[in-house]
Amino acid sequence: MAVPFRRTSKTTKRMRRTHFKLTVKGLKKCEHCGATIVSHRVCPKCGYYDGKKVVEVAVKEN
Ligand SMILES: [Zn+2]
Repeated sequence: MAVPFRRTSKTTKRMRRTHFKLTVKGLKKCEHCGATIVSHRVCPKCGYYDGKKVVEVAVKEN
């Protein structure tokens, strides 16, 4: 079995790990209101799906 000749330095290790990023899959922008939503779901902000109003969303009054 191959054995590392040298210990990987802190810098080398950290440089390698700059490419480790967490990505969230399945998120997109609502075509109607622009909110970030889970794809293939009715938008919880405006109730639109595929360009049509599907669900009535209660509007919070301030
Ligand atoms: Zn929306």
